[in-house]
Amino acid sequence: SIIIEARDIRYRYPGSREAIRGISFHIRPGEKIALVGPNGAGKSTLLQMFNGMIRPDAGTMLFDNEPIRYDTRSLRQLRRRVGYVLQNSDRQIIAPTVYQDVAFGPANLGFDEPAIRRAVALALQYVGLEGFERRPPHQLSGGEKKRVAIAGVLAMDPDVLVFDEPTSGLDPAGSEDLMELLDELHHDGKTVIISTHDVELAYPWADRAILLLDGRILKEDVPDVAFGNT
Ligand code: ADP
Ligand code: ADP
Repeated sequence: SIIIEARDIRYRYPGSREAIRGISFHIRPGEKIALVGPNGAGKSTLLQMFNGMIRPDAGTMLFDNEPIRYDTRSLRQLRRRVGYVLQNSDRQIIAPTVYQDVAFGPANLGFDEPAIRRAVALALQYVGLEGFERRPPHQLSGGEKKRVAIAGVLAMDPDVLVFDEPTSGLDPAGSEDLMELLDELHHDGKTVIISTHDVELAYPWADRAILLLDGRILKEDVPDVAFGNT
């Protein structure tokens, strides 16, 4: 079975050159996928197509075997199932306290108050931030902010988690902890997709790597093959 599929998609930012130039691939449920490529390869653009934030100019993006629809209602449903964690946590964390930030998604989905409290408690526990409820996010460390952002996405219990450069700004120990958290998510049945320019990070972690260059797929394979070790 397939959860996310791209069929010959293309995209051009207004007034710019083509960022995605004819890309096709599929992702199966429960896979760990790394989109790997240098800056400007098109990784972020592609990730933003998975939850409908960017709509391809040509070709089709599918979720759960259905072409993505871009009306408000369909996009709301899609974003509940595909959680997106931005590279910059400061842009994702919007509320004055950790609790309010993590509660935002479930509240927006119309959960009642006890369900919101449960969802927030579970999500904060998952990322190891119990007791942080009343803390203002701007006082937290980079790694803690990243976890708040992840908790905010987890509170909606998505099937797929998409991380743009998940370890950006974290020190080596923080990066390692974060990759372990991504492994736990995978272990618990989530499909996990990351973008990274860091081959060393992607190689040991991914089930499958998709190498992007200049808006095109260069290679797509298990890491040993994709990175040319066999
Ligand atoms: P990556 O995530 O691999 O660094 P991006 O998807 O951010 O790559 O960028 C792909 C291409 O699209 C690059 O040439 C980049 O300059 C261009 N691009 C990205 N965002 C914008 C934007 N908002 N407006 C115009 N061009 C953009
Ligand atoms: P790191 O260097 O590990 O990225 P920081 O030195 O920024 O993290 O923060 C270390 C700890 O101190 C964190 O637990 C963070 O929540 C806390 N902290 C950082 N800044 C403040 C602040 N202004 N007020 C209260 N606690 C803070």
